[in-house]
This record gives sequence, C-alpha cells and structure tokens, in this order.
Amino acid sequence: MKRILVTGGAGFIGSHLCERLLEDNNEVICLDNFFTGSKSNIVHLLKNPYFELIRHDVIAPFFAEVDEIYNLACPASPIHYQYNPIKTTKTSVMGAINMLGLAKRVKAKILQASTSEVYGDPEQHPQREDYWGHVNPVGIRACYDEGKRCAETLFTDYKIQNNVKIKIARIFNTYGPRMHPNDGRVVSNFIVQALKGRPISIFGEGNQTRSFQYIDDLVDALIRLMITGSHFSGPVNIGNPQEFTIRELAEKILKMTGSKSVIKFFPLPDDDPIRRQPDISLAKRELRWEPKVPLDEGLEKTIDYFKKII
Ligand code: NAD
Ligand code: UDP
Repeated sequence: MKRILVTGGAGFIGSHLCERLLEDNNEVICLDNFFTGSKSNIVHLLKNPYFELIRHDVIAPFFAEVDEIYNLACPASPIHYQYNPIKTTKTSVMGAINMLGLAKRVKAKILQASTSEVYGDPEQHPQREDYWGHVNPVGIRACYDEGKRCAETLFTDYKIQNNVKIKIARIFNTYGPRMHPNDGRVVSNFIVQALKGRPISIFGEGNQTRSFQYIDDLVDALIRLMITGSHFSGPVNIGNPQEFTIRELAEKILKMTGSKSVIKFFPLPDDDPIRRQPDISLAKRELRWEPKVPLDEGLEKTIDYFKKII
C-alpha cells in the first residue's frame, strides 16, 4: 500500500484522482485550501479510513511521509486564476518549490499537473512536446501560463540538481462530472446555460478550437505516468486529439440537451488561443495510453450530472 499526497485533491480532477487511488488500495492524503475546490467533491470519501483531508495552502511548506505526490493545486479556469493573479503565480511557483522540497526530503515521486497553456497561442499545430510555445508574458493569462512554465522549470532542475523523481503531464482541456457549475470553463458553462434555457455565451465568433478529454481518460493517464520508470519524466501531452470549434461544441450541447437556448456572441478575451490540439504520440509510446471516451459519450455523462445538481 502506497501513501499518496494529492494537492488540490478537493477540485474537479483531484477528487476523481483521489477516488481512483483509493479504489486501487492506496492511502490518500488530500490537501486543499478550498479556493475552487469543495468538500462536496470528496465528502463520500471521508468515511474511508485510508482517506485524510487536510486544509492547507501549498504556498506554505507541508510535511508528511509519503511515497508519491500529485501536485494539482492551482485554479484552472480563466475567471478564477485571473481573480487574484499574484496568488495564482505564487500557487504554481511556491507550491512547486514546497512540494519538490518535500519530495526531495522523503524521496517521493512527484507529478506536476502542467497544462497545454504552456504552448500559449500556438504557432505549431498540433502541439508536440518539443514546441516551446508562444506565450504573452504580460497578458491576462500570463499568471497561469508563466506560473506553470516556471513550475516545469523547477521540476526539471530538481531532477537534474537533486535527483528528484519527477513526472510532468501537460493536460489539455478536460471535462466531466464535478466541474463546478460556476467554474466558467466552456463545457460546464454551455451545459448549465442549455439546461437553464439561458443564452449560450460564445466568446468571439466561435471559430477557435479546443480538444476535449473526458476525466476518466485523464486519471488513467496520470496514474500510468506516475508508474513509469526513471527513464521517463515527460513533459508529455495528455489530451484527446479530437478537435472541435467552440461553435460546434455549442451546437452539440444544444442538440443533446434538447434546449431552446439561443446563441449569444460576446467579445473574445485577450490572448485566447485560436487552436489547440495535442499530438499524443509520446503518450501512446511511453504510457501505452490513448483516450477512449468520445466527446458525445463524455458529454452525455456530464449532462446527466448537471441535470442532477441543478
Ligand atoms: P479545480 O479548480 O477544480 O481544482 C484545483 C484545486 O486546487 C481546487 O480544489 C482548489 O481549491 C485547489 N487550490 C487552488 N489553490 C490552492 C492553494 N494555493 N493551495 C491548496 N489548494 C489550492 O481545477 P481542475 O480542473 O481540477 O485542475 C486541477 C489541476 O489540473 C490544476 O493544476 C490545473 O492547472 C491542471 N489542469 C487542468 C486542466 C483542465 O482542463 N481541467 C487542464 C490543464 C491543467
Ligand atoms: N468560451 C466561450 N464561452 C464560455 C466560456 C469559454 O466561448 O462561456 C471559449 C473561450 O473563449 C475559449 C474556449 O471556449 O476559446 C475554452 O475556454 P475555457 O475557459 O474552457 O478554457 P481555455 O481557454 O483555458 O482552454
């Protein structure tokens, strides 16, 4: 039995990961400051004696004897990470330093939840891991993008300088049950708007693209990455290469929910990436993984979830 620390464990991805790690007979410590996460995401795990919940901010040092660390703590939705941008950078950078320090001290393996945002508004398509990206360092997304890029640098330097066993996952847009209804990301926004009969808010003309991955596929990939040998640290893209325009997504959700909502257009936020699609050859090769859940199937499960909670 391994003892595993999940920072950001009460969030959308973290709660699914904690659940899966417990199912696989591990002991799990979930650490969260509840900025965007919620106790309701993990309340069903509290009765499990192998699950511990700790209210803590990763900006402050933390100590526990653990075998593995999944470092997920960081707001992920643009409206939330832009709410207090200095705090977002601190969370990524100081959180990484604190968790890497812990990993070094207790000799734990540590995985960083990095992001496709390290590629910024990409000039290469699809994005491969050897592309260095196109990020505006002073734009509204910079607190998140540069914070995550610096975290990747820190992970790499702790590996080189201190032999820490690191793994870096570059996660592409992920959706599924337990996204917060007010999270602000596109899949949850459109589903909630469609179910409530409110206008569907498309930013720009809706021609920008994203590639959406269902949560179960992501959790599977993160666990596969963690158990890879020391020859492989990443960074590795984890995403579903099926690419859709935002307008296509809106139309799909309207059809699947049978909603009469109208589509309303709003200005495109600054620095909003035009295209995004992962090249997942590396993940296929090193993790023997590829996503299994097509968008329609994942959306169906997500719509069912929101029908229940709204
Ligand atoms: P989320 O907002 O649901 O979860 C983030 C969790 O981190 C929340 O529970 C929040 O309370 C916690 N947190 C935030 N700041 C903290 C701090 N300073 N100390 C302790 N806890 C803190 O978002 P998510 O979608 O579950 O994302 C989880 C991770 O995956 C993030 O690091 C995010 O950058 C990364 N990621 C997510 C996506 C995606 O599409 N969901 C894509 C790329 C990367
Ligand atoms: N988006 C939109 N309407 C919304 C929310 C988002 O049109 O209500 C667009 C947003 O401008 C972006 C895409 O959908 O082009 C994905 O946005 P999200 O915030 O989900 O993630 P990210 O931009 O970080 O990929």
